[in-house]
Amino acid sequence: MKPFPTLYVASANAHKLEEIHTILGKEFSLVSMQTLGKVPELIENEDTFEGNALAKATQLAAWMLREGLGDAPWMTLADDSGLEVDGLDGQPGVKSARFAADETQSIGNAPDEANNAKLLRLLDGVPIERRTGRFRCSLALFQPTLGERDSQFWSFEGACEGVLRDQLSGAHGFGYDPLFQPQGYPQTFGELGSEIKDQISHRSRALHQLKDFFVSSYPSLP
Ligand code: IMP
Repeated sequence: MKPFPTLYVASANAHKLEEIHTILGKEFSLVSMQTLGKVPELIENEDTFEGNALAKATQLAAWMLREGLGDAPWMTLADDSGLEVDGLDGQPGVKSARFAADETQSIGNAPDEANNAKLLRLLDGVPIERRTGRFRCSLALFQPTLGERDSQFWSFEGACEGVLRDQLSGAHGFGYDPLFQPQGYPQTFGELGSEIKDQISHRSRALHQLKDFFVSSYPSLP
């Protein structure tokens, strides 16, 4: 039987890691990249979530191969995600994490508070029917081989539709959660908390596809 691989998660975002752990469950062997030591910064220059997820998964795998790391068999898993707002032509999109970096002199990502403040400012006066949007999540699963010639990857996508509030509500979650009200609920993700979010979120939808992939590829999965 094919032995089940250890998944090294190419993310420094503790909230994402927690959601991935909870949704995939104990039968998956997940390791955060922080436990590997000083991983170089993973560059995300692509203009799609899918491209950025694959970039992060392949960069982490290439570095691990160079360093001789990883409990065999292993794969890397990356999540690239963000918010698209219809009334803002899809912004912040792939720039969700660094949306307000230009205003905060942040190198790389900007604090969630600054990103939310910028979004509220840009949405000021935008009517409710154009405050619709969605979270998107693209997961990349990368299986390296020495020499990288026969490497393989798989992508899984998830989206969650909703509307953007005109003020912050709720303290759960991270990022834009206090502004995003998912379709079918009167509360924001910030108010709903992780139990509901993990059932309906963009990340949950993509992770359930990944789970299905593993269940069909690895009959040894408990
Ligand atoms: P990434 O780490 O480059 O994929 O950036 C993801 C960014 O998108 C985060 O920093 C958040 O701003 C936003 N984001 C992605 N998923 C969520 C979510 O589940 N809730 C709130 N914000 C999210």
